[in-house]
Amino acid sequence: MGDYERYKDAKKRKQYKKDYNKQYRKTHPPNLIDERLRNNKLRKTKKLQAVEYLGGKCSKCSYNKCLSALEFHHPKGRKKEQINMGWNWERIKNAIMECILVCSNCHREIHAGVPKSGLTGVSAKHVIGGSNPPSRSNHGALS
Ligand SMILES: [Zn+2]
Ligand SMILES: [Zn+2]
Repeated sequence: MGDYERYKDAKKRKQYKKDYNKQYRKTHPPNLIDERLRNNKLRKTKKLQAVEYLGGKCSKCSYNKCLSALEFHHPKGRKKEQINMGWNWERIKNAIMECILVCSNCHREIHAGVPKSGLTGVSAKHVIGGSNPPSRSNHGALS
């Protein structure tokens, strides 16, 4: 009797597994997954193509280590920088032709409006109004 129950259970489990797999395949059709992977690969290839089209490196600091850290800057604004790698190459090319290639770091700087002199021009000491600069120490040492 017990053996029979166990046998039935095993059979049930097998059936359950079968149903589960069937359901899984229904919701995850293999070609849909392939398609997604293929699209990801395609997007990356297109981005690489676009990056190479604009010189392959940051136009400000020559950074070229990581593809995903390279971005397109449009001088007329962020909205025009919304380039979708899902577009066809012609459309991407037309969009990036007006852009410059920069790394994400330089891109932040451009949008933040960082002056050419960098942070030295606006040192924290200067902003806070630091007390007596050391260069005035030999004042009055004239004989
Ligand atoms: Zn850069
Ligand atoms: Zn930008």
